[in-house]
Amino acid sequence: MKASKPKICKYPKCSKEVKSDTSLFCIEHSRNIKSKSKVVTNKILPIVLGAIIYGAKDFMKKKE
Ligand SMILES: [Zn+2]
Repeated sequence: MKASKPKICKYPKCSKEVKSDTSLFCIEHSRNIKSKSKVVTNKILPIVLGAIIYGAKDFMKKKE
């Protein structure tokens, strides 16, 4: 049985209805979160890459 109750956005203090059954957030917040995660990725990626390169260098040194 399917619940006929409309889904509400999971974002704190937001009570907007979710458009599709599969999404957790309303249109506004899903867009918001997508752009935020993009920013986070852009900030974290160089750090992660740097750490990998640094770790690889360290590994190479130990190997030699
Ligand atoms: Zn929302």
